Amino acid sequence: MAIDDLYQEILMDHYKNPRNKGKLHDADLEVHAKNPFCGDEVELDIIWDGGRIKDIHFVGQGCVISQASVSLLTEHVKGKTLEEIEEVIQEFSAMIRGELEKIDEDKLDELCALQGVSKFPTRIKCALLAWNTLKKVVQERKAELEGKGKVG
Ligand code: ZN
Repeated sequence: MAIDDLYQEILMDHYKNPRNKGKLHDADLEVHAKNPFCGDEVELDIIWDGGRIKDIHFVGQGCVISQASVSLLTEHVKGKTLEEIEEVIQEFSAMIRGELEKIDEDKLDELCALQGVSKFPTRIKCALLAWNTLKKVVQERKAELEGKGKVG
């Protein structure tokens, strides 16, 4: 099987059989994001365990890239610490923007399936929608834990 076909298969699998999809009714946090360029929508529901994501689910609709990307995201950050998550977000975002000289397949694993997006600038927003959202969430959580959260 050609590598492009394998990647295509991973994306279609996550699109058709999304992982961790459906609301978390006891979520600590619920964030929404939209990509008006494509009509993609995602909601991330998160349960914290201190500086770790204990559980994460999503609800969403939109193109294959945006929905496969958020499904993959949930699998790759669940149970991880804020620092570990930041690292994955950074590495993944750099891959999508075509900024990586070499893709670390051990680190990115199935996320590599989205590397082809870097050749299609209009789809980068689709791939990064959920990731940019999670990045903000992680930054806010870190600030909160450091006692620098918003007052009031
Ligand atoms: Zn899209």
